[in-house]
Amino acid sequence: MVNMAIKYQASLVAVLGQPVAENPTGVMQEAAFAACGLNWRYLNIEVPPAQLQAAIAAIRVLGFRGINLTIPHKVSVIPFLDELSSEARLIGAVNTVRRDGPRLIGENTDGKGFLRGLRQDAATDPKGKRVFLLGAGGAARAIATELILAGIAHLTIVNRGLERGQTLTAHLTANTQADVTFQPWDGTCVIPSDADILVNATSIGLYPDGKAMPDISLAAAKSDLLVCDAVFNPAVTPLLALAKDRGLPVLDGLSMLVYQGVIGFEMWTGVKAPESVMKEALAKALSQA
Ligand code: NDP
Repeated sequence: MVNMAIKYQASLVAVLGQPVAENPTGVMQEAAFAACGLNWRYLNIEVPPAQLQAAIAAIRVLGFRGINLTIPHKVSVIPFLDELSSEARLIGAVNTVRRDGPRLIGENTDGKGFLRGLRQDAATDPKGKRVFLLGAGGAARAIATELILAGIAHLTIVNRGLERGQTLTAHLTANTQADVTFQPWDGTCVIPSDADILVNATSIGLYPDGKAMPDISLAAAKSDLLVCDAVFNPAVTPLLALAKDRGLPVLDGLSMLVYQGVIGFEMWTGVKAPESVMKEALAKALSQA
């Protein structure tokens, strides 16, 4: 007996990048689709930079409901989209595209994912807080922008490369009301006693260099400094291990990764995301990697 009500045409979403074979986002999205009974598929599609424009044209023709962008396409995709959210424009990068009829709209959920983790997993409202941010790359831009929009009192950006750090600081100062200071990373960076939140948004500690530790000192830090890491592989980085040893609260990079996916899922499907299913699927996939 054939059930004629079954719909055989799946809705499609994808991540475009190069490389994409190791990207675990699809595992949590597919787990979420299954848990919600949605006939959706998430594909990892390798796209070389020279083919990005053609790939976006294909996304339109094939009716994809949304995409994620990863290295190296987060900035170069912008000219091929119809519109950007104000946050994506401020960040200058897109990691998620949603469809509004025929229009492709660029969003950035990296910083929003971090913020949601801060609130939900670390029970911390960033409003009025003083933040030390290590790094000035893509993740740092997204995190800094969302923290500023959430009303932090002060942001110190610490970066090894002077130009990248100064450019980000100048950009945020010119385009927001924020109080932002740049501090060159010259020797050991001492986290001062008035900092409320420390975020590592560099790639220090990322697999396969999972023993690397940012050159910082927590000796002067206050006893409830919240230490956050954007690095999610390994989940417990040397920085988070040090913070835990000192009894400080921590927030890992898995939290940011899960919530950026949660926000993307909800943008694409309009359905409330099954957060715990997504978190479990991702943790399992990474533990098997
Ligand atoms: P980028 O390449 O854009 O930026 C890298 C940053 O790390 C730069 O500020 C760079 O400084 C700094 N850095 C790298 N190596 C060193 C070092 N040895 N000493 C000092 N600084 C260093 O990368 P992204 O911003 O895209 O990613 C950064 C991290 O965030 C990665 O580990 C990535 O996996 C993670 N991430 C996590 C997400 C999540 O959902 N959890 C989402 C996105 C990213 P300089 O300018 O001096 O080169």
